Amino acid sequence: MNAYRKAIDCDPTNIVPWLNIGWTHLGQGDLNRSIDAFNQVLNIDPENKQALNGIESCERTAATNPSLERCPECHKYGVRRRTREYGGEIHTSRSCPHCEYHDDD
Ligand SMILES: [Zn+2]
Repeated sequence: MNAYRKAIDCDPTNIVPWLNIGWTHLGQGDLNRSIDAFNQVLNIDPENKQALNGIESCERTAATNPSLERCPECHKYGVRRRTREYGGEIHTSRSCPHCEYHDDD
């Protein structure tokens, strides 16, 4: 990872290290970091196919994993969902660990 960072320091418009960081985080299941890296690529090259593919892969990964729900406020992954029962009804609350988002049903 340090080598990638070094490459970015030398040339901030070099997208290759950002792509590598994006795929590495995706492989580790860290979708928020992965998306950030792919978005860096898109800032430099808005039509970059690999970055667009990467973001699509993140979304596909999230779609198959309920614990990776996306926050409607900050759009980061990992909204916490809590259900509890009272009065014979199931209530769900959602909160985001990345921002102030909180939704009580
Ligand atoms: Zn949020």
